[in-house]
Amino acid sequence: MKITSADFVTSATNLDKCPAGSHPEVALAGRSNVGKSSLFNVLVNRKRLARTSNTPGRTQLINFFIINDKLHLVDLPGYGFAKVPVRVKAQWGKMIEGYLAGREQLRGVILLVDVRHKPTQDDQQMYNWLKAYRIPTAVVATKADKLSRGRAIQNLAVVRKNLQLADADPLVLFSAVTGQGKEDILTIIKNWTMV
Ligand code: GDP
Repeated sequence: MKITSADFVTSATNLDKCPAGSHPEVALAGRSNVGKSSLFNVLVNRKRLARTSNTPGRTQLINFFIINDKLHLVDLPGYGFAKVPVRVKAQWGKMIEGYLAGREQLRGVILLVDVRHKPTQDDQQMYNWLKAYRIPTAVVATKADKLSRGRAIQNLAVVRKNLQLADADPLVLFSAVTGQGKEDILTIIKNWTMV
């Protein structure tokens, strides 16, 4: 699959505000700073479509992009900010879980984890939700260029074990710097959405 156009559609604060219509949808999830915006930009061949920002306030919305006029790529709010109050964290959880539970157009979720670190409790929570709602999932281990190839492969095994990944769920090593893994991710999106 080749992405030839990608345009921002809208931001939503909850399921009710998500755009209507029947475009199949793939969402990107992961903790803040994991490299979600960078992955997005590599997939759509843009330097700056989704902002790469470390500011928590600007990333608390569900952001919709239309790809090739055919499918929605959805940027879910990053989770796991240490400085965020418990009440706000709970709101994020509600928003994300509400979307996952109720969004009929959703065909699959790409869950990003940092290949250098063991998945966090938030990552486990997210993966467990995805499985509870029977949403096809691919886990993408980001920032592969920061480790030797051998170490990265070792860490993939840790991720698989720690999240208790289902055998059917792909695990892709990715780097926004080298583009490694990009084609695999595009193939997964194509297979999920059938576009
Ligand atoms: P987000 O908060 O999940 O959207 O994360 P960003 O995409 O903004 O990335 C957070 C930081 O990690 C930025 O400084 C990026 O340049 C860096 N980063 C993201 N992906 C990669 C990667 O694959 N390799 C390297 N070396 N740095 C990355």
